This record gives sequence, C-alpha cells and structure tokens, in this order.
Amino acid sequence: MELDSKCPTGPIETRWDRHRFYLKLVNPANKRKHTIIVVGTGLAGGAAAASLAELGYNVKCFCFQDSPRRAHSIAAQGGINAAKNYHNDGDSVYRLFYDTVKGGDFRSRESNVYRLAQISLNIIDQCVAQGVPFAREYSGYLDNRSFGGAQVSRTFYARGQTGQQLLLGAYQALERQIGLGQVEMFPRTEMLDLIVVDGRARGIVTRNLITGKIESHLAETVVLGTGGYGNVYYLSTNAKGCNATAIWRAYKRGALFGNPCFTQIHPTCIPVSGEYQSKLTLMSESLRNDGRVWVPLAKGDVRPAAKIPENERDYFLERRYPSFGNLVPRDVASRNAKNVCDEGRGVGESGLAVYLDFRDAIQRLGAPVIKERYGNLFDMYERITGEDPYQVPMRIFPAIHYTMGGLWVDYNLMSTIPGLYVIGEANFSDHGANRLGASALMQGLADGYFVLPNTINDYIASAKLEKIDDSHPAVKETEAQVAGITRGLLEIKGTRSVDSFHRDLGKLMWEYCGMSRTAEGLQHALSKIPEMREQFWHDVKVLGAGEELNQSLEKAGRVADFFELAELMCLDALARNESCGGHFREEYQTAEGEAARDDDHYSYVAAWEFRGVGIPPTLHKEPLTFEYVHPAQRSYK
Ligand SMILES: Cc1cc2nc3c(=O)[nH]c(=O)nc-3n(C[C@H](O)[C@H](O)[C@H](O)COP(=O)(O)OP(=O)(O)OC[C@H]3O[C@@H](n4cnc5c(N)ncnc54)[C@H](O)[C@@H]3O)c2cc1C
Repeated sequence: MELDSKCPTGPIETRWDRHRFYLKLVNPANKRKHTIIVVGTGLAGGAAAASLAELGYNVKCFCFQDSPRRAHSIAAQGGINAAKNYHNDGDSVYRLFYDTVKGGDFRSRESNVYRLAQISLNIIDQCVAQGVPFAREYSGYLDNRSFGGAQVSRTFYARGQTGQQLLLGAYQALERQIGLGQVEMFPRTEMLDLIVVDGRARGIVTRNLITGKIESHLAETVVLGTGGYGNVYYLSTNAKGCNATAIWRAYKRGALFGNPCFTQIHPTCIPVSGEYQSKLTLMSESLRNDGRVWVPLAKGDVRPAAKIPENERDYFLERRYPSFGNLVPRDVASRNAKNVCDEGRGVGESGLAVYLDFRDAIQRLGAPVIKERYGNLFDMYERITGEDPYQVPMRIFPAIHYTMGGLWVDYNLMSTIPGLYVIGEANFSDHGANRLGASALMQGLADGYFVLPNTINDYIASAKLEKIDDSHPAVKETEAQVAGITRGLLEIKGTRSVDSFHRDLGKLMWEYCGMSRTAEGLQHALSKIPEMREQFWHDVKVLGAGEELNQSLEKAGRVADFFELAELMCLDALARNESCGGHFREEYQTAEGEAARDDDHYSYVAAWEFRGVGIPPTLHKEPLTFEYVHPAQRSYK
C-alpha cells in the first residue's frame, strides 16, 4: 500500500494556505444535504461537531458519557500553547514549530507541525470570543506560563482547569447547534463498529448504553475524535472510561494504525499507593514552573525532606540540564526520575518517588501567589495524600498519560479508509515520539475548529456516493458481528472479573512496554499477551444481560480490544530498533543515557495494517523528510 500523506510542498509558511485554496468547496445550500457523523465530544470532537454544524452540515454526534461535557478533555489542567508572543520573550510561529519538531524527537511531519503552530494563534482568539476565562495579568493581556521543552512562556491557562474551561466553550457552541436542530446528539451511546461500503466509511454501529439496543447510523463521512488509549496500561492519568474501541474497530476494518508504541509517560503524577488502586492522578506540568525536583544525594536516606540540608540534596534536572532545568520535556524528566529511583535514591515508603518542592517559591513569592497559580492542584494533592504541599514537598513519579500513536491520517486528517477522518488524540498526531506539554489541547482544537472544517468539504464535494439504507448487506453484516461479540462476552460466564484481567495486562505492559523497553522484554510480552487473551475469552465473568445498563459488559468489550492493541504496541516497539522520545529501548542510548535515534533506518511513521487476530500485521512506512529543522541529537543542557 502506498501511503500518500498529501503534504503540500513549497515554502512552509504558505503550505496550508495554498493547500486550502486547492481543496474543493461545497456551496452553502448544498451543505444541508449532507450528514456527517462525529464520534466524540471532547475538545476535538466537540469543536468539530459545532463547527461543521455552523457551516451548515447535518451532524450526528455521539459520546458514551451522559453529557457531551463530561468528555475526558475536561480533566486537562495546565494549559494550551499558542505562539502569540504576548510576553515579548522571543516566541514566534517558527519557534513553536521548531520546539515541537525537536520535542517530538524528529518523528513528526514538518508540514503538519507548522500548520499547528500557525493555527495556535486562531485558537486563542476563538476561545476568548467564546468567553473562555483565561488568566490575565495586570496589563489586561492574557497571562502565560512555561511548559517543558520551551524557553519561552506561551502556555495560556485558566488556573489548573484549562481543559474544563475550553470544553465548556466547545460545549456551548455544540449545544447552540443542538438547539438549532443542526446537531442530533446521542449521549450514552457507544460506537462498536464502523460500516464500510465499497471501501468507504458510511456509518457506525452503536449500542445504546441504557437499553442495550444495537443500531446503525449512516452518513457520507465519519469523524472519530475518540481520544487516546493510555488505559491499555490499566493505571494511567486518563479518565477510567477512556478506551480504544472506536479506533481499534476501525483499524480492523482497514484503517492503518500509526506509531502504536509511542506513548507518553508524564513525570509528575501522584505515585501508586496500592494493589487495588484503579487510576492515577496527574499533578500538572505547570507546577514545574515554580516547583524544584530533587532527591537526597545519598542512597537510602530516609530522613524527612526538611531534615535534609541543602548540600545533601540533588536537584538532578537542574544539575544535568542547566539551560532548561526543571522544564525539560516529559520524556527526559521521566527517565531521569526513574534513573535516580533505580539508583536507590527515591523517596517515600516505596522508594518510587522524587520530590517536587515549593519551599523556595513560597519563600520568594509568598504562599498567596502560589495558591493563586496552583491552588486547586495543591488541594487535590492534599485530599489524595493527606500531606500539605505548602508545608512538605510533593512526592511524584512518572505515569502513563498520553498516546502519540493512533490511526494514521494524511494532511487532510483522513485515514486510509476514504471518508473516515480522525482528529485529536485518536489520530497518530503531530507530536512525533514525544508530545510537549500543553500541545494536546492545541492539536485537538486545531483539528476540530480549523483543519477538519476546511478539509472535509473536499471529500464531500468529490466522492460519488450511492444512497444506502439500513437494509444494505454491509450494514446488516456489521450489526450482526457487533451483536455476536456482545453475546459472546455474556456467554463465557467464567470466574474472573474484567478488571482482574485488565490489571494483569496493564502490569505486563508497564513492565515490558513502559518507560523503558528491551527486545527481550518485548518478546516476553508478545509471548504472554496471546495466552492472556485466550484466558480472557475463556474465563471472564461478565455480569448482567445485554438489554440493560451493563457496565461490566461495556468494560469487557473495551478490555478485549486492549488485549489486541497491546500486542500491536509491543510489535511496533520491537520493530523500532532505536530510541526516540518516549520510546526508550535500553539497547539504544548515548553514553550519557539519552535516547539514541537511528535516522538512517527509522525516520518514518510506522503504519500497521490489520490481517486478523493473532496474524502478524503488515508494516507500511511513511518516510519523514526534514527541510527546515534538521535532525540532531536533542540537547536540553
Ligand atoms: C489529567 C490530564 C491532564 C491533562 N492536561 C493537559 C493540559 O493541560 N494541556 C494539554 O494540552 N493536554 C492535556 N492533557 C491531554 C488532553 O487532555 C487530551 O489529549 C485531550 O483532551 C484529548 O481530547 P480528545 O477530544 O481527543 O479526546 P477526549 O477528550 O478523550 O474525548 C473523547 C470523546 O470520545 C467519546 N468516545 C470515545 N470512544 C467512543 C465510542 N466508542 N463511542 C462513542 N463515543 C466515544 C467520549 O465519550 C468522549 O466524548 C491532559 C490529560 C490528562 C489525562
């Protein structure tokens, strides 16, 4: 299969404009004759559904929560990047582009990243117009703070609740269109398969999560804004409901999966506290603006933090990376935290934590300023750990947070199935092998508000689609397959809960396909996963029935997909014999322990094609070329 990224060429500053000019348009009167399905109401899906309806298309929008505004995006804390240069500190569209390509360890497309940096400016204007209450400084300008991998302040924020405020903006725009009848909203409805007719995406099969009814919905195009798959690891900072089912089932229908092993470990999360914990809590990266990361210099030093004098502390990020200090990118900060813990210098009972200390910032700025900046995060920390971070340093440890991999899309955000678009965290994204902080919200909103509403017209204007209805054989067949999987799960009547299988899978993935990976470990995981999947399909106990609200059944379907996806992630990690960004293969590191890329052999997007469960998928490669930011060893020293 030839992968055509459709990336424009020519001067990078004009690529998006020229590309848009050559895309076909649909005249306003004709738009109302077309229906678009949008699955997902997070920042990507919510923004897309509202914008497409605003343009005049009929939109059918789906989410599994009880309200569109409960999408996981609501949890985003720290902020959203934009190259406005309000601080006059040297920022520019080019610098945001440069930082993002470098931050992603040269595994993303230059054309996409430049467009993202350009659009970042429009996003802030759009959100301000919607009334999003970004923090402001004394002059009245919007305030900014710094995030990892950048030496400028370009992160716009609303305390530690930026995702919530941005989502309320998108949600209001969506509700307006629901009120106007332009969007038909289907909450508590889960997409369980994609309907493909003559090789094109034409609809979805869903299960009503209240009644259990399985139904089909048809349209000219389908958009997936269904979020990331970090929950394959069981413990992650994602909302418990986040899952991979929509993209996974689309993969099984022919959409290629891009860079599945590119996962992000976030350095500042509240450490795991016990075997029966079901999720992890993020402490936003914004805290590294003022918090200093350290461990004791000596191994096994169990004295309380306050009793360890200054000259017996190791501020290891400041020591190793004097230029960026505590604000090195996430992959670098996480690996360093792991290394000091592996050396026996970790803190807390488990020794699997490092300190994030605000003592100096409180002395310098006063507690009220710190409270104003991070108050809700400090409260959250205290509620979970019982410790007051104004008095003692936070204890933090890396945790799974975000997935850079996802369905492969071209520059128009279309997957390899014509008519199937993928946006936000669900696509393989613009972040390469490591996403910079505050760039996911930027990408989701860029895709939803600005890119997709321009590119989707081209397909709608040019595709010649036959009219189909529910009686089409492809529809009936897909419905029957979905009903079969649901029935199959209920009929197993085994002995183990869905969660117990999920927890075991998560542990295996964290150990062998987590923060660092080896060929041997990945091969071990690849031998275990099929066994575990087999056991799952023989021994899982799914409670209740299909025709009712049944969360045990919902979870079982999602975990079944995680078992298959986990295998693909390990295969991808094994096939990439280099380290880059969050993908750290222990065999490939520099003398200083940094990720060692192999550009001669691995400067490509890995795009995997499904061949059948248990059958090795086919690897396709989209070569990456760099005309502007030339690949070099990343340095934050
Ligand atoms: C704790 C936390 C804090 C974060 N903070 C930041 C930050 O400060 N800045 C930043 O840039 N990024 C941050 N991120 C990352 C960012 O929040 C996410 O990448 C982003 O919100 C994803 O948005 P999305 O629209 O792609 O998906 P989501 O918000 O996950 O939305 C997915 C939508 O798809 C729907 N859906 C999924 N599957 C199905 C299905 N099968 N059927 C029907 N509906 C389905 C869901 O119901 C939901 O509506 C943070 C992430 C976490 C975990």
